[in-house]
Amino acid sequence: MQNGYSNKKQLDVIVVGAGLVGSLEALYLAKRGHRVRLYEFREDIRKTPQARGRSINLALSVRGRRALKDVGLETHMIKEHGIPMTGRRIHNTDGSTYVIPYDANTKQSIYSVGRNYLNGLLLQESEQYGNVERYFNHKLIEANLKKGSLTFLKTDTNETVNVTADLIIGADGAFSAVRKAMMKQPFFDFSQKYIEHGYLELCIPPADNGGFLMPANYLHIWPRGEFMMIALPNQDCSWTVTLFMPFAKFKNLDTEEKLLAFFEKYFPDSIPLIGKQKLVEDFFAVKPSPLVAVKCRPYHVEDKALIIGDAAHAVVPFYGQGMNAGFEDCTLLDQLFQKHHDNLAEILQEFSETRWEDTFAISDLAMYNYIEMRDLVTRPSYKFRKAMDDFIFWLLPNFWVPLYNSVTFSTMPYSLCIKNREWQDRVLKKFLSIVGIGALIGGAVAFKIKYYS
Ligand code: FAD
Repeated sequence: MQNGYSNKKQLDVIVVGAGLVGSLEALYLAKRGHRVRLYEFREDIRKTPQARGRSINLALSVRGRRALKDVGLETHMIKEHGIPMTGRRIHNTDGSTYVIPYDANTKQSIYSVGRNYLNGLLLQESEQYGNVERYFNHKLIEANLKKGSLTFLKTDTNETVNVTADLIIGADGAFSAVRKAMMKQPFFDFSQKYIEHGYLELCIPPADNGGFLMPANYLHIWPRGEFMMIALPNQDCSWTVTLFMPFAKFKNLDTEEKLLAFFEKYFPDSIPLIGKQKLVEDFFAVKPSPLVAVKCRPYHVEDKALIIGDAAHAVVPFYGQGMNAGFEDCTLLDQLFQKHHDNLAEILQEFSETRWEDTFAISDLAMYNYIEMRDLVTRPSYKFRKAMDDFIFWLLPNFWVPLYNSVTFSTMPYSLCIKNREWQDRVLKKFLSIVGIGALIGGAVAFKIKYYS
């Protein structure tokens, strides 16, 4: 058995879903010496070509990096594959751009990573562990969570398979079948919200000389108030461009002429980069995808089942934290395995009781950040506040961590990030009102001296 856990009882764990979070969780459990069976609905992602319709690249930040470090993959991911993005590069409608650094003081970056690459890497790493078994083309169709029993449909042969385990971990995404089974439990709270905006992915190809057509180390944003377009760099020097917009607006763009006129008006500098023909072809090749946020709790059933990742807390993608939060679930869970010496009842209960507040918080922050990205970033009030935050952060780095930095470059619990921001708002309000009153008094005194003395 691996890593010195040989004196403990080996648990038999089934992880449902070999996406990003399930594959990582399998590694954490394997490192602890448990037997892990990983069941995945789709084919092995390492053998299938990139599917369209799901984000092709993702922003990896500190919480995700910490988890990858725990399983020995951070250095490879960052050094060999990740493309650092040091700030937002804002595109105006006249084609001019300017940069808002993510972290002007300590110069930290987020990293653009390929979804399929990362998922494949995690699965590949699991091959290093003899205690991990992988079953692809297995769709969970029925679950008795209290008994720890599951039924899968083998999608290639149409057979059904019944299995049992000590622990079932549902990492089967926003439309989780494990969560559906949990909903039958009393006191399980659940809500989901589809936002009115959808997204559609386009692509800027590499330059003829094989390089990038835009400065590479930025997350490019075309903020246009009610909607926005963003672009993240890929390893092959192409860009994945994502247009986020109300569905009603997508629907209006139903002809080539309307689409091109729309791009000419709002994103003119992107047309030569994407290419007129490619823009039209790619735009009409797929329908925009919806965005859903899920909140639920508790995350567990007795000592038998747990949901993590999007299955427990799908969030809208505007803070770039969905995967990072899911990876953080795995880290926190591992810490609880350590703390409670693999006692499942205690681990699951504590995870459920402590995690929801932070996942609800990142869900709310992600909703807010859409407004910041598509609209507020262009406003003087946002720029003023960002300058104040950056200045005080530079002056007092341990005392004043701006919201974005606390979410992205620290492991401060998400709910504390919000509380910290609320406290900063109060401090700044007081400070500004004192400065304002001081300026008024000063002005009045100067006026009096000038005209009445
Ligand atoms: P998933 O990735 O959905 O994986 C779930 C897996 O379970 C899948 O492989 C699925 O096939 C499998 N499955 C489903 N049902 C069953 C079943 N019945 N039986 C067996 N298997 C099943 N996050 C970031 O951190 N940074 C970003 O920049 C970012 N950008 C994003 C951009 C967009 C447009 C979107 C939509 C999301 C973005 N996210 C980002 C969020 C991120 O994609 C998710 O949080 C992440 O994929 C969650 O991983 P997961 O493993 O929990 O779920």
